[in-house]
Amino acid sequence: MPLADKFGRQITDLRISVTDRCNFRCVYCRSADPETHMPSANLLTWDEYVRLARILVGMGIRKVRVTGGEPLVRPGVEDFIAQLKALGVPDLSMTTNGHLLAERCDRLVAAGLNRINISLDSLDRDKFERVTRTKTFDQVIAGIDAAQASSLRPVKVNAVLVRGLNDDEVEAFASFARDRDLIMRFIEFMPLDADRSWTRDMVVTGAEVHDRISARWPMVPVVHERSETARKFRFADGRGEIGLISPVSQPFCGHCSRLRLTADGKLRTCLFSKEDYDLRFLLRGDATDREIGDEIHAIVAQKEKGHRINEPGFVPPSRTMVSIGG
Ligand code: SAM
Ligand code: SF4
Repeated sequence: MPLADKFGRQITDLRISVTDRCNFRCVYCRSADPETHMPSANLLTWDEYVRLARILVGMGIRKVRVTGGEPLVRPGVEDFIAQLKALGVPDLSMTTNGHLLAERCDRLVAAGLNRINISLDSLDRDKFERVTRTKTFDQVIAGIDAAQASSLRPVKVNAVLVRGLNDDEVEAFASFARDRDLIMRFIEFMPLDADRSWTRDMVVTGAEVHDRISARWPMVPVVHERSETARKFRFADGRGEIGLISPVSQPFCGHCSRLRLTADGKLRTCLFSKEDYDLRFLLRGDATDREIGDEIHAIVAQKEKGHRINEPGFVPPSRTMVSIGG
């Protein structure tokens, strides 16, 4: 039976986090301080992921995004993509920081990956190093080059804008999209950072980004699926596309079609869920596929109407972005 929640939303998208580890420490995501990681015994094995994915595909999941942490730091991710492909997932994508992409791109394509999102939060080398706390600017640009030279389409580049940090680069990012004929997406900073430094005035709204870019280059809206997170625009005079992901200023929960599976086997019905549901326990017990499927239906029935970032008394979830999977 297809997955639907009590508000009638069909669940067709699954984000799978394959690790909570990452080779970057982006300021809006991880802390500079040492963090504890999930014990390796708690991580789902590739076989466990594939079993769950098979059950979920049988329940109507059509889009799977592999993420993390940084998905390319977990050995074997290409074989996992190939197994997802063999399950018949029509839309298979990955979100990566791009550091290891240039050397892995061919293998990802051969495994059956369809499209890719690469994070790039500054076009200025020094600032990039401050944001990610790494010196990997050239490797990330090489990763974008490799993706554009491959058959992965579309190639999307994601920037999280943080007021006072990189909001001066909106026009430069738009120019980057035009020059390279790619999709540049601006993501509003969400209260999911490990340092708990988020404040509302650090959020650069999609509306501001839209106004600034269209003042320079007129933009035309692009029709998109209602469940998509981004409002999309193309340039009236040329190549490239802009996506505005505005979960804080313009929540899109009403059409949400997503579920998230964490690296330690918890199913989450929302990024901001207070609770997650343990599937690892079922996988490692003697539950049948039917029993796991029934449990997933019961979990989806609990999917919240929307997040509560804009409500008084909002409290962020105890898990941060890196251990949920963005
Ligand atoms: N490591 C990969 C990467 O950075 O692309 C994949 C995982 S990362 C958690 C997934 C996405 O979440 C990235 O686009 C990242 O920029 C975004 N992200 C992380 N922390 C965020 C936050 N506090 N608010 C908004 N987006 C965030
Ligand atoms: Fe790592 Fe991605 Fe988080 Fe940056 S946003 S610290 S690359 S998981």
